[in-house]
Amino acid sequence: MMHTVCLVPGDGIGPEVTTAARAVIDASGADIEWVPLPAGATAEQLLGRTLPERTLTAITAHGVALKGPITTPIGGGFESVNVRLRKKLNLYAAVRPVRSLPGIESRFSNVDLVIIRENTEGLYSGLENEVVDGVMQSLKIVTAAASKRIAKFAFDYAVARGRKKVTCFHKANIMKKTDGLFLECARRMYQSYADRVQYEEMIIDNGCMQLVRDPSQFDMLLLENLYGDIVSDLAAGLVGGLGVVPGANFGDDCAVFEPVHGSAPNIARKGLANPLACIMSGVMMLNHLGATEKASRIRNAYDSVLGERDLSLLTPDIGGRGTTQSFADAIIRAMK
Ligand code: ATP
Repeated sequence: MMHTVCLVPGDGIGPEVTTAARAVIDASGADIEWVPLPAGATAEQLLGRTLPERTLTAITAHGVALKGPITTPIGGGFESVNVRLRKKLNLYAAVRPVRSLPGIESRFSNVDLVIIRENTEGLYSGLENEVVDGVMQSLKIVTAAASKRIAKFAFDYAVARGRKKVTCFHKANIMKKTDGLFLECARRMYQSYADRVQYEEMIIDNGCMQLVRDPSQFDMLLLENLYGDIVSDLAAGLVGGLGVVPGANFGDDCAVFEPVHGSAPNIARKGLANPLACIMSGVMMLNHLGATEKASRIRNAYDSVLGERDLSLLTPDIGGRGTTQSFADAIIRAMK
């Protein structure tokens, strides 16, 4: 069955990793019609807009996108395009599976976690202002509606995937109102799932310590926006770094698949970017589209390439001497 998928290359290493992912997905035999769309700093230079209306319209119409990272200026400049895209398309749930991979040396060999991050509010509401000279304020917005919605998403995901336990990380001892509400909504929602899934809560600072000490004690993590962002990168560090962790953003009407990493301008256009995180995001996308056999083909192929550990093929971030292209080509060859 043919699927139409929006392809947003993004900035920095985005064009390199999305090109590689597209080639791998096409080589799997998946029947995809790609619709390339602009967004980010590159789009601003060409079209004068970081998030052109036609990009939003196309993703809404087709319901699925594979997206590269988009640069977010630090301190000033335009508002995060990633955040705006998630808000405009109401992509309220970020899903980030983090698992140990064959042949990638890291501190642990048994990591198998799924991080569920609330994607629309918290400190990412973008409500910041200068109170008086020298005093800035940032508003953390937490609503019962969004908190219930993400808790339901997490428990539904756990039940659908046969996951055993959801741990909610929070700081409700300090942020009694905002994190308190998030926690209360998760607790209440859990009442409808208590016969099928376990649930526990952990203050986030302890949670981070536990995560780096023994990640195998966790199965799924449920977090509000900022905590989810930070803990995703921390968890990526447990399995080999940002080059090997995929992600997806789900709303009720559409889904955008993208690696957890950013645009990494320091290695852009050098052929050094690891395409695996984007390829893995593509695998999540194929599963979402029901093309599960093609998804497994790609997954088996990259597992086998990683397992062989031919350093001339792998990218430097995972110990290799190869390039984005050599890694993607090896995955394509392994599917033949
Ligand atoms: P942005 O401003 O878009 O978030 P960034 O460089 O601040 O970009 P990331 O891209 O998330 O942040 O990554 C931090 C570092 O991790 C990068 O500088 C790069 O060295 C490394 N890195 C991230 N993604 C990859 C990748 N796919 N392959 C290899 N290294 C990567």
